[in-house]
Amino acid sequence: MYHNQSEKYKKLYGELQPVDIDKYMLIIGAREVEEIKRLASLLKNKTWCHVNSTFEGGGVAEMLKSVVPIANGLGINCRWYCIEGSDNFYSITKRFHNIIQGLDQKFTIEDLLETYLETNRKNFENERIIADMTVVHDPQPCASIVHGNYEGKLIWRCHIDTSEANEMIWNFLLPYINNYDGTIFSQRSFVKQGIKKPVYQIAPAIDPLSAKNHQRSEREGFEILAHFWSKYRIDPERPLILAVSRYDVHKNQDTIIKAFKKLKKDKSIRKLKPVLVIVGNLATDDPEGMEMYRKIQNVADNDPDIHTLLNIENNDEYIGALMRVAKIFIHISTKEGFGLVVTEALWQGTPVIGSNVGGITLQVINGKTGFLVEPHNVSSIVTFMRYLLTNPDEREKLGYNAIEYIRENFLITTLVKKYLILMRFLLGIDFPYFKI
Ligand code: UDP
Repeated sequence: MYHNQSEKYKKLYGELQPVDIDKYMLIIGAREVEEIKRLASLLKNKTWCHVNSTFEGGGVAEMLKSVVPIANGLGINCRWYCIEGSDNFYSITKRFHNIIQGLDQKFTIEDLLETYLETNRKNFENERIIADMTVVHDPQPCASIVHGNYEGKLIWRCHIDTSEANEMIWNFLLPYINNYDGTIFSQRSFVKQGIKKPVYQIAPAIDPLSAKNHQRSEREGFEILAHFWSKYRIDPERPLILAVSRYDVHKNQDTIIKAFKKLKKDKSIRKLKPVLVIVGNLATDDPEGMEMYRKIQNVADNDPDIHTLLNIENNDEYIGALMRVAKIFIHISTKEGFGLVVTEALWQGTPVIGSNVGGITLQVINGKTGFLVEPHNVSSIVTFMRYLLTNPDEREKLGYNAIEYIRENFLITTLVKKYLILMRFLLGIDFPYFKI
């Protein structure tokens, strides 16, 4: 088990300086900052822990690296623990993830007992987590509730869409889930039957002050990317269509490529010469990434207008800048818990073509912040690509709406605020909390 004093964490995030909530004043306003401080005032010196399965890669790590310093800045003692597992453990939990999101994949009784449960047990053999509130994220460490030496209020936070989870795996997880004091889901529709404890709703969010998400001008974006363009031999003058995500079967990157190849054949587009950039990384708890990356490269088939990039350097600055200068961001997952990349792109004022799936529909408001499509409907994807590429005024209008929509709904300060409300409720300071 790693925690946020471990060398691994420090190497990634430095010395963990608490962040002062006042820094967000210009973005969310003084009243909101005061409200967050008020909520935190009775939680000073209380302990709040997070347990997940990776410090790096994917949306959960992305959020925790902001939530933990903000909470510490508010005077709460916030810690982040990360379980350790073998490659086999991550391969099994990745299969769980896929099966829970509706894919048909196999697992054995040994996978469950010898690897999944045993890894959960081992991680807590010499650990005792005593906290006023502990949030355990996703299925990987879910079973630690019975093996873990936890003390205090315990919440299981599910970031994925469990609504169509395979019955067998869901029935296996349910007794563990029902051992928690409550659960958090991003959306009501993600909750599958059988949960006997209170279910709370908190949507994911992005940190507007992070290196990736701080808002920059278009010119700054192009400047940041100077080396990027030359390294990958991309002409910055050409209109950019961008996709960013892990290389994963649910992210449906092959359909993006198919749609782009079709778009290129369109006469009205030929002159514009758009370029498609797909950026992706590998999460340490996701062993399928490399294989998926190769598959996507094969689909791209050395097309000079398509760039499939893996683990780019200067990740955060480049991704933020790419999202700022892109004409279109595309994210057409077949399943999506939330899709932080959509939030990030909208916050940079870039309209999104998104699939009408899961958390994407909370963010892409058809005709207001972007356009929704069926994940495999190539011709409607091409139609919206063409429409956005050829209508700069419309892009600007959607981009403006997008920034305001994210400010209202999906910034990290809202997420922290909701956690504080929940913590106060669990500790008996306030009641009631809005359950779903
Ligand atoms: N991400 C990144 N570099 C990459 C690909 C993704 O930093 O090459 C980040 C992305 O910006 C986002 C997170 O990883 O913050 C992915 O979160 P999301 O909710 O979109 O998907 P998940 O990986 O959790 O399914």
